[in-house]
Parts: sequence; structure tokens; C-alpha cells
Amino acid sequence: MPERSVPDSRSLLRRLRDTLAEPTGGQDRLDRITSLIADSMHTHVCSIYLFRDPETLELCATTGLNPESVHHTRMRLGEGLVGRVARTGTPVNTGDAPGAPGFRYMPETGEEIYSSFLGVPIQRVGEILGVLVVQSREAREFLEDEVYGLEVVAMVLAEMTELGAFTADHNGIGATHRFPVLFRGATGQEGAAEGRVWLHEPRVVVTNPVADDIEHEQKRLVEAVSGLQHQIDDMLSGSATMDKEQRQVLEAYRMLAHSRGWMRRMVEDIGLGLSAEAAVEKEQATTRSKLGQSSDAYLRERLHDFDDLSNRLLRLLTGQGRDTGAQLPENPILVARNIGPAELLDYGRVLKGVVLEEGSVGSHAAIVARALAIPLVIHAGRITTEALNGDPILVDGDNGIVHLRPEDSVTAAFRDKMAMAAEAQKRYADLRELPAEDQSGKVISLTMNAGLMADLPSLAGSGADGVGLFRTELQFLTRSRVPSRGELAALYKRVMDAAGGKQVQFRTLDIGSDKVLPYMKPQDEPNPAMGWRAIRVGLDKRGVLRMQLQALMRAADGRPLSVMFPFIATPEEFHAARAEALHMRDREAKIGRRVPETLRIGAMMETPSLAFAPDSFFAACDFISLGGNDLKQFFFAADRENERVRRRYDTLDTAFLSFISGIIARCDTAGTPLSFCGEDAGRPVEALTFAALGIRTLSMRPASIGPVKHLIRRANLDDLAQVIREAQDANVETVRPAVTRYLAGLH
Ligand code: PEP
Ligand code: MG
Repeated sequence: MPERSVPDSRSLLRRLRDTLAEPTGGQDRLDRITSLIADSMHTHVCSIYLFRDPETLELCATTGLNPESVHHTRMRLGEGLVGRVARTGTPVNTGDAPGAPGFRYMPETGEEIYSSFLGVPIQRVGEILGVLVVQSREAREFLEDEVYGLEVVAMVLAEMTELGAFTADHNGIGATHRFPVLFRGATGQEGAAEGRVWLHEPRVVVTNPVADDIEHEQKRLVEAVSGLQHQIDDMLSGSATMDKEQRQVLEAYRMLAHSRGWMRRMVEDIGLGLSAEAAVEKEQATTRSKLGQSSDAYLRERLHDFDDLSNRLLRLLTGQGRDTGAQLPENPILVARNIGPAELLDYGRVLKGVVLEEGSVGSHAAIVARALAIPLVIHAGRITTEALNGDPILVDGDNGIVHLRPEDSVTAAFRDKMAMAAEAQKRYADLRELPAEDQSGKVISLTMNAGLMADLPSLAGSGADGVGLFRTELQFLTRSRVPSRGELAALYKRVMDAAGGKQVQFRTLDIGSDKVLPYMKPQDEPNPAMGWRAIRVGLDKRGVLRMQLQALMRAADGRPLSVMFPFIATPEEFHAARAEALHMRDREAKIGRRVPETLRIGAMMETPSLAFAPDSFFAACDFISLGGNDLKQFFFAADRENERVRRRYDTLDTAFLSFISGIIARCDTAGTPLSFCGEDAGRPVEALTFAALGIRTLSMRPASIGPVKHLIRRANLDDLAQVIREAQDANVETVRPAVTRYLAGLH
């Protein structure tokens, strides 16, 4: 082997690319490529290993090793030197392969006679497709230039793999994005859906990874980078209204976009023969491998920015983007890294499901998905790199699981489960006109939670008695400015019209905490869930509260109106908010507008403090609604959005139920109607328990009304109350086993 074996990169890349154009099979192409590379690098061996399944690499072609071992030699991810390259995404370069840590001896290949080993990952952004290896007899490490040259070659192989150049079914070499993949994320919204992937930001396809004209490619790159810099400058110049933090993010973007090191590396890549887009991808993939495993949050954040910039640059270079002209498939399931509430609303109900890599239970996207009743899975690994538009996909929102390109047996089992759920829904539809009356004759009012105009048709469909909670923040979250009083009045009027005389309990704006309005300056609060939110904002910014109250009164136009205030922690807050409502009613009357025939003013009890308020508070409320999501989070001090703790404490814990019973007793004494509108109201076991304890109104997702009603009608709430009492007397920590046993015994 000569001292330096830097390949004549340009001509090698062109020869590799030319194999693409030849009318030959995938295996033949791979064989020719290994021989071209070995020849060009003057090495004794060149081998290509590709993933057979996500855990197994297979030797798919070789020049120099025993040809018999092709398609026989396999290794697990992380196993041997090849497996190490694949796992870490970084090269392994050694002059003494058999002595290197992790070396695995594979007698069938005859490779023990080769001392030097250089393996580089065949990777696209965030995705390792295989490993390219060269080996020689001489014991020496490869030079930096040689490593770099082989990485460039590997980049071209990655693009060719992606284009399906090596697909050959007879020997099991498949195209990438072919295997079934299971993602375990978290539940954003329950429900199940089967459909086809629709990528919110489709992957850019690089059709030509090799430069035909180096100067032309470098010029294209320089122009695209300059376009990118302009884009960011434009964003910055429009940033007068932005707060400091947003500006800082953009400034960091600008610095990255002007980075000389980045530009120099890409220009060098092109110099070695890559096209401009392949050069961008190569740097993006390399940086990801280097920084992606870092535990430093700051570095990971920068990587996020860098990814974003690289993607923008790729879109500029290829002209590809969201508008690829692709048709939305049937039963589309949206797959995205993250998505804003307005964008999600734009898609609307055509979507059958949503899968996000990021997001949180309380994020705006989750709120919208919940309002649209679309199953949502969040934290779904790296699904945007794995999934392709049109891939079959199953979303199990109940368990936070996604099956991408599922096996037939998985699809069949999933369909059975969905069919059973549909069957049950059909049975529930028969109950629509019947009351939720238990065997002892007690009638529970089942109402629904809503937040969008689009929810209202469910009122008739589900058989709900009304809307127990109308969350008004969605109209604020999905706009770029505060909606006007007129806009709000028109919307609330349409909601009341659609309810057709059934009661709608409007909750005034509950923002802050996780719900930050796009035009509101984010507060730098260490603990936003306990910070400046809901009625606290309303009482400090009375203009918005008044405007909303006025819009509600105008929408009612003489009809009865119910309003409730969120997150009341002290009687004083309720009295102040109530005084505002009464004041607005007087003002409306004074200016000659029709005022509501009746005005019911209620409080949402979401903090434990309120349960211990003086009697006068309970008497002053026209009604009280338990916001169980918040109430439980503060009772157990367990963040409702934190996956680690949010399921840790049981709603049927006797301590929590004693607390709820205390509230029921206070409301009974005061004669104040009490309802429960947190998510637990829609869970049959929890709902039955609350009803047995004495809560007479439960507000839930429309889809839960059927199952809850079905169970209430079969149960005897007096008997269940007795079961709960006995369990409590037995000093158990949770009554769940006793309640479940009772319910399971019903027929
Ligand atoms: C609750 O906290 O239970 C509630 C209904 O309000 P939100 O979920 O909107 O905070
Ligand atoms: Mg709440």
C-alpha cells in the first residue's frame, strides 16, 4: 500500500454516480462500488454493511474478504468495530484492528490478516444506514485526509441508498424506511387511528449527490447561504415587537448562518466532488453525530438551531419544502417535530391522528388535538426521520404507542381493537336519548367539555345535557393578536345558537402557565403552573376580562348566561371577578343593550385552599366546578405535565376522595350546585366513584359520555357508595380495587 491513499475523490464520486445510471441490479451495483473504492483508495479490502433490520448489520458486498461471507456475516448494533461505527455514528480508524477494543473475529470472512481498519458511517441526518469499511494488511492508521475522503464517499452512498439504488429483494437488501418501527411516546390525547403518514415538513430528497461542475456547485452554495442570511436578517428587522429572548434566539441563528467554519467545510466537501445539497447534509449529519449524544442542554439547543438552519438551506437549494405538490393521503396522520395550534387547526378534522417528536400534554397542539378529538402521541422518538409520506401508521393514543409500517399481524390486532371500540360506540349511540339514571333512580347530568365551534355538533351526537366547560382560550391562542370584542361576541353567539337552548358554561380566559399567548410577553417564571395565570392575569389586566365579559353578554343578547372564573384561590378573587361581571351587566343595561335574562356566576375550584373557604364563599357562588386536573396536581404536588410523576398518584386514593367528599358536603350545606370537569370525569371508574360520592354533574370529552352513561345505568350508586365507605373504613389507601370489583360484577 502506498503511503497516501487519498482517493481521487472527484472521479471516484462520478464513477459511483454513473453506476446509478446503469441498468443493473442493486447487488451488482454494490459489488462494483466496493471494487471502485478499493481500487481508488489502494486498499486490499472494501466492504459495505447495511442494516438488515434496525438492530442487525449485514455484510452486503465486499472486495477482498471471502465472497462466501456476503449476506452471511452479520453483527448486532454495537458489536465489533463495524457495530461500533454504526452505534456511535463516528469513524473507527486503527492500525491494529485485531487488537482494538471490541474487535470481533469472524473466521468466515478471512479478515484476520488485515491489520488496518477504517470504518465510517453511511448516514443521512439523524439516521445511520450502514457502514463503509476499508482494510489493508499494513499496520498503520489512515491519514486524516483519507478518513475525510471516505466520509465523502459514504455520503454519496447514503444518498444512493436513500434513492433505492441497492434495493434487491432476492437477497434481502431492502430500501431503507422499509422496516416496521415501534415508537413508545406518551399520551397527548386518547383514541386510536389507522392511516398514512403526512409529514408536516417533508424530507428533502437529494437526487444528485455528486457535483458535475464544482465551481457551479460552490456558487449555488454561496448564493443559498446568502439567501439564508437574508431570511434571518429579515426576521431580525421585523423583531421590534419581539421580546429579548426571541431576539437572542435569532441573533444566535444569525451567528450560525454567518459561520465561516461551516461554510469552509461545505466548500471543501464540494471540492472533493459532492453536490451542494449533499455537502449541507454531510455537515449536518456529522454535527449531529458529534453533538447529538451530548448531555449538555446548551449544546443540544444549538444543534437544534443548526438543524433548523441546515434544513432551511436545503429547502433553498432544492426548492423543496412544504409545498411539494404531494396529495394529502386518505386518513392522514400528521407527523411532525412539533406544530403550532393555528397550523393544526388549519388541517382541522381531516386528520385522523397526530404524532409529535416533541410537545407536552398541556401544549397548545395538545389542547387543539383534544378539542378536535384527534388521537395524539407526543415524544415519539425520531419519527420524522424514519417516516416517509404515505407510510402506513397506527396510532394508539391510549398507550402513547405508534406503529410505523406495521407487520400485518400488528395491523390485524389493532383493527380488532378499533372494531371493538366502534362496536361499543354504536351501542352507546342507542343510549343517546336516555337519561344517565342509575338503578336507584338518581339522575346524573352528563355534559361535555368544548373549546371550538367545531365541537358543538358533538352536543347532539353525544347526548350531552349541555357544555359544562367551554374553554375560551383557544380563540386567543390561535391568533397573532388579541381578538376583538366583536369577533368574540360573534363566536360566542354561534356557540350559544348551536347549543340550541342547552346550557353552556363559559370559562373566562385561562392563560399563563403552559398556555402562553403568542403576542403576550412570556413571563420568566420559575414555576408557571403556580404563577401568573388564569384569574390572576384577569384581575391584573381587567381590560381583557371586561372585554370578554361584555362579548359574552352581547352574544347572549337576552338569553341566560353562565360564566365561571378559572383558578380561584381565595374568596376575594371570586368576589372581585364577580363584581366585574355584575358591573359589566349594569353598563350594558345603561347603554341600552339587552342583558342576560339570568346571569349565573361560578368559580372553578382548582386549588385546595378554596375547599376550606368560609361558608359565605360557597353561598356566593351560583355554582362550583371542580377543575380536577389542576386540583389533583396541587393536592399531590405532582405536575400534570411531567410524565415521571403525573400518573403516580391515584385519583381514587382515599385521601383525595375524603377531600372531594368534604367539598361535596360544603356545597350541599350551602345549596350550591357542584360539577366536576377535569379529565377524570370522563374515565368510567372515576366518574362512577364521583357520582357515588354525590357529584351530580360530570363534564367530559364527548366520546366519554356513552361509556360513562352505560355504566351509570347499570350501577346502583347507593350500593357503590356503601362499597366505598367500607373500603375507607378498612383503612385502605385506594378504593380502586373495591370499586373495580363492584363494577366488574355488574351485568
Ligand atoms: C382542570 O384543571 O381540571 C380544568 C378543567 O382546566 P384545564 O384542564 O383547562 O386547566
Ligand atoms: Mg385547570
